[in-house]
Amino acid sequence: MEPENKTYNCAIIGGGLAGLCLAIQLADEGISVVLFEKNEYPLHKVCGEYISLESWDFLVGLGLPIETYNLPIINSLGISSEQGFMLNQSLEMGGFGISRFSLDHYLYQLAIEKNVTILQNCKVNSVVQAGADLQEIDTVNGKFRASVVCGSYGKYTPSFIQKNEKYHSRINSKSTNYIGVKYHIKSDLAANRIELHNFRNGYCGISKVDQDWHCLCYLTTAENLQNNAKDVKLMEENILFKNPFLKDYFTKSEFINPNPLVISNIQFRNKQTDVGNIFLLGDAAGSITPLCGNGMSMGMRASKILARELTKYFRNQCSIEQVSTAYKKSWNTAFSNRIMAGYYLQNLFGRKNTTHFALKLLDKSPALMRRLITLTHGEKF
Ligand SMILES: Cc1cc2nc3c(=O)[nH]c(=O)nc-3n(C[C@H](O)[C@H](O)[C@H](O)COP(=O)(O)OP(=O)(O)OC[C@H]3O[C@@H](n4cnc5c(N)ncnc54)[C@H](O)[C@@H]3O)c2cc1C
Repeated sequence: MEPENKTYNCAIIGGGLAGLCLAIQLADEGISVVLFEKNEYPLHKVCGEYISLESWDFLVGLGLPIETYNLPIINSLGISSEQGFMLNQSLEMGGFGISRFSLDHYLYQLAIEKNVTILQNCKVNSVVQAGADLQEIDTVNGKFRASVVCGSYGKYTPSFIQKNEKYHSRINSKSTNYIGVKYHIKSDLAANRIELHNFRNGYCGISKVDQDWHCLCYLTTAENLQNNAKDVKLMEENILFKNPFLKDYFTKSEFINPNPLVISNIQFRNKQTDVGNIFLLGDAAGSITPLCGNGMSMGMRASKILARELTKYFRNQCSIEQVSTAYKKSWNTAFSNRIMAGYYLQNLFGRKNTTHFALKLLDKSPALMRRLITLTHGEKF
């Protein structure tokens, strides 16, 4: 571990996609970076593992040889209703599949090669301003110092951030609580196809990833689970199996691990790009519904925007206040339409009759359907 008296240019809290990508880009500019990750690589995460192709060139540019990983390229979409109707549509931009277990681990290895200091099993407990240009990061492994701190800690906001007077969470008691559930399965679903299956108060995505596995991942309300004795299997049988396509996937596929990975207490909330001198990116800047499309690509794109602004700061080309203003402006320009589209789509999905009629309508309006999909995928960056 680094001596505690070293002052890093930048400290990053959380080593998911957003944090690792930011670390790599800053290190490429000669900026010293320490990244704290409370878990240990490699690890599985609840995620649909479909990445919009907009991020492909970015990942190659970082130095990840993804073209050699033999990943499935996905250009066909199917969306089903509980009544058994399937809407089919080709994907203009499309995506590729890779498990978070593999992707985060590859990025971790690349960051190490680029001389990022990565501390695993190292949870950050607090950050305090220790001088004009100095912040002290208190972790389970001791205290560290950095000029700039970035938070990429994902969808669960640490308590020390929640307590910050500048943190404006807009979660209220009426916000719906969701759970996310993920399995890896072996399925005959075509490698170029992603399917989204609706059920009461939720939807389930299936698409191919690496290792000849498919990722089967769904989002539903915590209420659905509570109403089924908090038993995931019982909920699947009582609710998900009402969609005939899902029943087939669940009963006819080989499950790599019969027990799913489950996360709870997911809420979707408004956005904030910084809090008390900490720049936020990825889900930390606001977790978005999976239907906003491509939270992973949004996290990676945000890392590129923030890396560009911070690099100017470390080259003495601008002040930290200017970084904050420019980052916020670019973030809003890059993501506001996608977030809006996601909110509308979220309202259309997971409702028995509304979803069914919406899919029938969209089936007859391919131009509208294409437009909606375009809104959830950004341009290459
Ligand atoms: C059910 C579901 C399905 C999804 N499907 C897709 C999909 O198919 N495609 C897509 O693009 N997006 C999808 N998303 C969204 C996507 O998973 C997220 O947008 C993405 O993971 C965000 O990455 P991140 O780096 O911001 O956060 P994360 O990947 O969550 O990383 C945050 C990291 O911070 C660490 N951390 C947290 N607190 C601390 C602390 N105090 N100290 C140190 N470390 C800390 C955590 O351990 C974690 O590793 C889905 C989301 C859900 C819920």
